[in-house]
Amino acid sequence: KKRIAVMTSGGDSPGMCAVVRAVVRAGIYYDCEVYGCYEGYSGLVQGGSLLKKLDWEDVRGWLSLGGTLIGTARCMEFKERWGRLKAAKNMIVEGIDALVVCGGDGSLTGADLFRSEWPSLLEELVATGEISTEQRAKYQYLTIVGLVGSIDNDMALTDSTIGAYSSLERICEMVDYIDSTAASHSRAFVVEVMGRHCGWLALMAGISCGADHIFIPERPHKAGSWRDELKRVCSRHREKGRRKTTVIVAEGALDDELNPITSNQVKDCLVEIGLDTRITTLGHVQRGGTAVAFDRMLATLQGVDAVRAVLENTPETPSPMIGILDGKIVRKPLMEAVKLTKSVSSSIAAKKFDEAMAQRDSTFKESYANFLDISEHDDGSQ
Ligand code: ADP
Repeated sequence: KKRIAVMTSGGDSPGMCAVVRAVVRAGIYYDCEVYGCYEGYSGLVQGGSLLKKLDWEDVRGWLSLGGTLIGTARCMEFKERWGRLKAAKNMIVEGIDALVVCGGDGSLTGADLFRSEWPSLLEELVATGEISTEQRAKYQYLTIVGLVGSIDNDMALTDSTIGAYSSLERICEMVDYIDSTAASHSRAFVVEVMGRHCGWLALMAGISCGADHIFIPERPHKAGSWRDELKRVCSRHREKGRRKTTVIVAEGALDDELNPITSNQVKDCLVEIGLDTRITTLGHVQRGGTAVAFDRMLATLQGVDAVRAVLENTPETPSPMIGILDGKIVRKPLMEAVKLTKSVSSSIAAKKFDEAMAQRDSTFKESYANFLDISEHDDGSQ
């Protein structure tokens, strides 16, 4: 029987519990044993009680839950070779042949490194007498499958990460709450949303909530003119009778000279055109709460495919990342996805914003194009 460990690592996101549930149940269905690896990579490094067998009933009710019930952690030891050596030993001691990791690009980078180092880690464990040569032969290959759990939707080669739509839903609810008070008092609100270096949440929230303006890192506004543009757009919307102003700022928003655009700077502009302006930084409410239907579905389909990928994996196949492209669940080489994801930051640092945008998913690209289109053709005549 194959023994698969499943872990959640890095920042939590709604849908991670549904992933664990799907992996456990699909694993059992395909006659495997599934272990929960608690607290991210710390579970592998420390082993013992942090590696626990999970049965069908253990994950009952996990489909809709937010966060992750097997815990997540930032594990510094795993970034060191000695930590990964301990992790390899614990996996062999527990008889674990495969690992399903649900996390962001950091967690998936760690997973790929672990797999590439595996033969040399085993060599070292044999040399120090911690495992036998028979064990080395039995656990010669490590199968790792990555699932992307992140609210940011910042991973290349997948249209959507697990948790992004739940977070978007939460942001929209919050903006709706803010909107009613904004309209009552005729106020302006600057809403700062998460997303690290990715503007997906900000852009989609802007579109879904009908924001007056949005700021994201991938398509920055001009350093010399964004303030005037913001004032012009918001004033015009007021002149047309809008009683509220909503501006969404991604936490990583930049101008085209790579200076951060902050909520405070945006607020100052709105105050200058006479608006009573407040800043709302949504913070961790964006990560919390139950998973929306789409994330439950994505987590379940991808969790099942992760188990299939484990069973179909051969030493020649690169570690797969399970993604979704044009509605299809797909397997992509983990390393390629991680590399492309990281290249977005370098493109932005080199002011190659079109290249950064090109790495984003098609919904993102299209949404931005349409958003621009509509606001540029809005001549104030409606
Ligand atoms: P995320 O997975 O959400 O991007 P992090 O970047 O914090 O979050 O990564 C989560 C964990 O993955 C880290 O605490 C560490 O244990 C592991 N990890 C991240 N990057 C590496 C790396 N380059 N090498 C080994 N392990 C890593």
